[in-house]
Amino acid sequence: MKTGRQWIVACFLLVSSYAVFAEVIVPNVIGDPYEENREYLTIEGFKVYVLPVQQYSWRGYTLEEREDERLRAIRKVTAQLKVAVSLLPPDPINELRTRVILYMDDTCEYGDAKETGKTFKTGKVFYTPIASKDDSDRKLGQVTIRCYSAFVHEYPYKGIVLHELAHAWHDLFLPNGFENYKIKTQYEWSKECLHRQHKPYWKTNAGEFCAEMSCAYFFRSKDVPHTDMSMSEKNKALVSAAWQDPPNLDEFEPATGGCSDESQVTLNEGEEVIERKRSHIAAH
Ligand SMILES: [Zn+2]
Repeated sequence: MKTGRQWIVACFLLVSSYAVFAEVIVPNVIGDPYEENREYLTIEGFKVYVLPVQQYSWRGYTLEEREDERLRAIRKVTAQLKVAVSLLPPDPINELRTRVILYMDDTCEYGDAKETGKTFKTGKVFYTPIASKDDSDRKLGQVTIRCYSAFVHEYPYKGIVLHELAHAWHDLFLPNGFENYKIKTQYEWSKECLHRQHKPYWKTNAGEFCAEMSCAYFFRSKDVPHTDMSMSEKNKALVSAAWQDPPNLDEFEPATGGCSDESQVTLNEGEEVIERKRSHIAAH
């Protein structure tokens, strides 16, 4: 049984730690987070900023319809955060809650149509590091979700938020962040040796490799290897070690040299080349 004094100390710690966190986070929001229509939510322990819909007509939707899409986007983020929180290891999730915010806005059209010769981009989900405003070296991260209608209708994959949180873990918690040597080395080998008949998204770079392997290991990926059942043993070991808290990559030895027998491990998925459905929507 706690004494009264212990309760006071506990409450003080709780309030002060929240105040420190709020101080770090709030300056990164443009404008007043409490202004009308702007929501400042805590979902599954993550801070989520939700901006109002943009005040112009878009694709013929009325303001009311777009407001409805905004609420649906919040529900979708909530569902995806539940997936991530229930599947990723609990200690890293707790760490990510203190260093990552989610930011949702209704930027539905951007880019230069003449330059690309195509239509404007209409939505985007991506991770970016943000500088801490408290003069410390502590980096923070932000997952941005743009354009409520696009997010609601054009992103069927249920692991988008998990994928973005994996980028955050890679950047903020692994030694040297995105430059982590062991991830890069294992990526180079995997790109060369695994799924040679496929062009999965993770072959883009070491960052996408780490994020997609995390999705496959803890949930499922859109591309091969879809689940941990078809991952190489090395990559399973890598993901498992990377998601320790703190990450424990010291004993992980990346595969090097030529492609070994292990590169054959996934051939049982068949010869079919799964063409990813490429769209103008970018999720990174
Ligand atoms: Zn990505």
